[in-house]
Parts: sequence; C-alpha cells; structure tokens
Amino acid sequence: MKISIYPGSFDPITYGHIDIIERASKISDKLVVAVLNNPEKKSLFTADERCEMIKDAIKQYENIEVESFDGLLVDYAKKKNASIIIRGLRAVTDFEYELQLAQTNRQIYDKVDTVFLLTNIQYSYLSSSIVKQVAKENGDISKFVTQFVAKKLLEKNGNN
Ligand code: ADP
Repeated sequence: MKISIYPGSFDPITYGHIDIIERASKISDKLVVAVLNNPEKKSLFTADERCEMIKDAIKQYENIEVESFDGLLVDYAKKKNASIIIRGLRAVTDFEYELQLAQTNRQIYDKVDTVFLLTNIQYSYLSSSIVKQVAKENGDISKFVTQFVAKKLLEKNGNN
C-alpha cells in the first residue's frame, strides 16, 4: 500500500492546498494530510481548528486522513508507514527551501522520497498569509478558500 504524507501549516487551508490534496490522493492508496503543530511557529488557528477546516474541505474523499503532528516529519512518516512526502511548488522562490528540506529529510531517513506537485497555475499566487491579510481588511476571499474557512476567518477577526 502506497501511503503519502502531505505536511504543512495549513493556516488556513486554501484552494491551492486543496488542489494538491486532490491530485496527491489520486497517486496514493492513502494520503495523510499532516498539520504541523509547532508552538514556536505563530499561527492564527490552533492545530485542531486547522484540522477541522481541512476535514470539511475533503469530506468527499475516502482515502484521505487528517491529523496533526509535532516533532520530526520523518519520525512521523515512519510511524505512519509512509514512503512519500508530498510538497507543492508554486514558483522558483519555493524551490530553494523545499530542496533543502527534502535533502535533509532524505539524509535523516532514506526510505522516504519527496514528490513535488506543481501548483495549478490558477492558484500559483495563493498563500495562507495573503488570504489572512485580505481577510483582515474585510476583502472578498471567496476565490481563495472554502465558505467554511471564510466563516472561520471572519470569526477570528471578530466580524461575525
Ligand atoms: P509550510 O509552512 O510547511 O510551508 P504551508 O501550509 O504554507 O506550510 O504549505 C504546505 C505546502 O503546500 C507547501 O509545500 C507549499 O509549497 C504548498 N502550497 C501552499 N500554497 C500552495 C498553492 N497555492 N499551490 C500549490 N501548493 C501550495
């Protein structure tokens, strides 16, 4: 069974992430969307809230699991019996960091390979931080995130 992990902050999940999730689920028997729970990395949403928003977005898929993790990604991959780490690439600017991350993970644990999926061109500009900025200024974010996420962002900003 081919198990893949798609790790990230997902603070919050955007249509760019969802596109990667849909495509990764097709090339895996099972896909684990893994939400990084790192108290040192400041996030708007708690890990539980981030998982809840992902679960809502992917409920029609049967081979996807959503979970939060802490510690080393490769340790988590071992625990989940995963052989593939999925990452999305938007632009050349993502590449250097992603390469470093993938090489490091492979040095630590060589039974896992990182597979990069290129962003759908439609979402190549999209990031969680841009969405948070637009939401903070009460801009229309309906093209970037699901209705459920948009509602959660409104609540966070005290505009419900
Ligand atoms: P991290 O803090 O791990 O970068 P993110 O939630 O920002 O967490 O991103 C998780 C993964 O999703 C990364 O591989 C990132 O490049 C990818 N990603 C983020 N936004 C998009 C997008 N719009 N299209 C494709 N991939 C994306």
